[in-house]
Amino acid sequence: MPSTESNFPLVLRLTFLASIILGTIAMGVAGYWSWQRETREINSNLQIQAGFLASASQAVFDNLGNGLTPLGDLLQTINIHAHPELARAHLEKFQSRFPEVGSMAVISPDGLMLINTASAPGVVLPDFRKDGVYLDQLKSSLNNKGPYMLGPPEYGKVLKQWRFPLRYTVRDERGIPLFVLQAAIPLEQRGIYLYDLPLPPSSFIGLLREDGLQQARWPAANPDTTYGHQSPGPLAKMLRAHPELKEGLFSGYSPWTAADKQRIGAFKRLAHLPIYAYVGIPGSYIYDRWWRNNAVTLGAFLLYLAVFSYVARRVTQRERIHSSALHGLARLDNLTGTPNRTGADEKLEQQLQRATESSRPLALLYLDLDRFKDINDTHGHSAGDELLAEVVRRLETHLRQGDMLARLGGDEFIVALPGASPETAKLTAERLINTFSAPFQVHGKKLQASCSIGAAVFPEHGKTREELLKCADTAMYEAKRAGRNCFAMYETHFGATRQRRLALKEQLQLALEKNQFLLHYQPILDLKSRRIVAAEALLRWEDETGRQQSAAEFISVAEESGLILTLGEWVLNQACEQAQAWTNAGFPIRIAVNLSPRQFRATDLVDQVRSALQRTGLAPSLLELEITESTAMDDPESSIRVLTEFKRLGVSIAIDDFGTGYSSLSYLKRIPADKLKIDKSFVDGVATKLEDAAIVRSVLALAASFEMETVAEGIEEEAQMQALIELGCNYGQGYLFSRPLTPQVLTQTFFEPVSGNKEVS
Ligand code: C2E
Ligand code: MG
Ligand code: MG
Repeated sequence: MPSTESNFPLVLRLTFLASIILGTIAMGVAGYWSWQRETREINSNLQIQAGFLASASQAVFDNLGNGLTPLGDLLQTINIHAHPELARAHLEKFQSRFPEVGSMAVISPDGLMLINTASAPGVVLPDFRKDGVYLDQLKSSLNNKGPYMLGPPEYGKVLKQWRFPLRYTVRDERGIPLFVLQAAIPLEQRGIYLYDLPLPPSSFIGLLREDGLQQARWPAANPDTTYGHQSPGPLAKMLRAHPELKEGLFSGYSPWTAADKQRIGAFKRLAHLPIYAYVGIPGSYIYDRWWRNNAVTLGAFLLYLAVFSYVARRVTQRERIHSSALHGLARLDNLTGTPNRTGADEKLEQQLQRATESSRPLALLYLDLDRFKDINDTHGHSAGDELLAEVVRRLETHLRQGDMLARLGGDEFIVALPGASPETAKLTAERLINTFSAPFQVHGKKLQASCSIGAAVFPEHGKTREELLKCADTAMYEAKRAGRNCFAMYETHFGATRQRRLALKEQLQLALEKNQFLLHYQPILDLKSRRIVAAEALLRWEDETGRQQSAAEFISVAEESGLILTLGEWVLNQACEQAQAWTNAGFPIRIAVNLSPRQFRATDLVDQVRSALQRTGLAPSLLELEITESTAMDDPESSIRVLTEFKRLGVSIAIDDFGTGYSSLSYLKRIPADKLKIDKSFVDGVATKLEDAAIVRSVLALAASFEMETVAEGIEEEAQMQALIELGCNYGQGYLFSRPLTPQVLTQTFFEPVSGNKEVS
């Protein structure tokens, strides 16, 4: 799988995460910005409101205060000290013009109240001449340089309610105070002196005196604790620290408000009075407003975030499932559904780990189909695929839960058997081989297949996956060499053998290039006349040192590697050339050429033979092709087809090493062979062992009934020859007559000299 694909879910997740983070940051910035905007707006509103409140209050007080001047002038015209009641009508008239005023009073500079409109004529008025607090206040009124002054709120003893006084001192020409005019403003009249501002709940407005006392406050707290006490609120604190401030903002904790103790507000000093008007609202108001203005956006954003996160989660989940499915698929073999090499490697690694941890054995079988290539070549690849799938189905029925069957590629499989000892591995392998005994139904045809199995066991043969696989593979290779369709348990020397054969394979390739191959010929004689009738071409390899290599071994290596195809063609041409040379020299003997299984199954064999005959001019009747019994019987139908073509060419056919394979008589009958070559292993005991003699006798009888001639191979003793003659064998070859010889030696030894100097080799 390309790495970009495996990274895709990660990229997707990161993209989603980045979008969520960026979205949240953007929302945070927008929220903060809007908070700042709300704060600015609220502060500026508060300042406007505080300013407005200050101007409105100032106007009310100025209006009232200024009105007292003409009233004072008027009252100077009567002797108010002697006849205070004369002032009542004026006072009441004045009062009626100012709705905020609760009562009007006139007080003499020494503190004696002369008249009070809240008190009926004749009623005794309170005497303040000995009231220190009152006298102090009065004194400050008398000393006041402004047109009027405002006293702090108190409980009006005459008016009988909380009020604050606005006082104006009437003086004579020399400035000596004559009397004080006092307008009492009840605190309830706030609608007039405190402009009713549209404010959020829990807000308050008020007037704070420079000395830290409340002048007025709305909503009114308990007057007993509010008025006449230093304000503990944040504004008073601020002004104590900065008495120079004329206007501004304040915020802080206000211990005397019932709820929403965190306050923010604005203040403004009145123009002509040492008093500040202020507006305070709950600190939470910014939040409330911000929330009101942003809730919809925020809600929409959160909804978007939720939906987006949900979608992102689903998409990444799906992507993960998809990629893990891909991951899984990448570990499965498409054709059979078993793990493939990658999957097998992972599983085997896990199984080995478990085996190591639990100190239990684990057997590994390496299974390879025999001649699978031929099945592909003959029946087509789709038939091959169907066969593989069918093989897997069969194998699976013979495995236990926990065993692993995997296809490494082509026709190679492995089976891991956790917990299996070498004995169990052997039994299982044999069981698996047996499952091949019944033919497979492929494309409606019955196909016979077999397999070779090699086994290695953990921990004896290897501790790692690589070691075990290598050992099991080597063992499988040995099983193939042992004739296929069998099982081999790994043995340490297998490795060396395989190594040697691998080396041999390379040397063979070089030998071919260096022309180190040659043919020897072993005469085949008519046993009765002892005359040469044919010669078998046998391949020899002489390396640089002149040493001859064992034909049996290097030919099997050549067969395995496929080199036999080139080599075999060379042998065929060389042998035909030699036979033609002998024919030309007047010795027209038949030449026998061995065909290896691989050569025999090569599709172009018939053409090769035809062209060798044409090229050399050899009469087809002088060429005999030998195939072993097992080659012929491996796929008898196709053998019959190929051999029939040879017969058509006029070439004769011999079945080599007869008796070592398992011939089906019904097939043997149909095979168009001319000769049976009785294997040396029976010839060896033909004169001494009854069984061997019996076998040879029956082979001879069989040949006779199929009208085939017989050749005995490997005759080494006279007695053997005699026995064979007696049994009725036609021909023979063996050391008794001659070893395989070079053409020159054979010519000299077996052919009488002829007239002329004909070149025969
Ligand atoms: P084969 O076709 O059965 O050949 C007969 C083998 O028996 C030869 O061994 C021959 O030297 C040996 N032999 C003959 N008489 C005696 C005897 O009296 N005593 C003993 N002990 N051995 C005897 P060689 O040459 O080593 O070949 C072995 C096998 O290699 C052959 O068995 C044949 O199957 C194969 N072979 C040889 N040359 C070729 C070839 O050119 N092409 C192919 N495809 N196979 C070949
Ligand atoms: Mg032979
Ligand atoms: Mg033979």
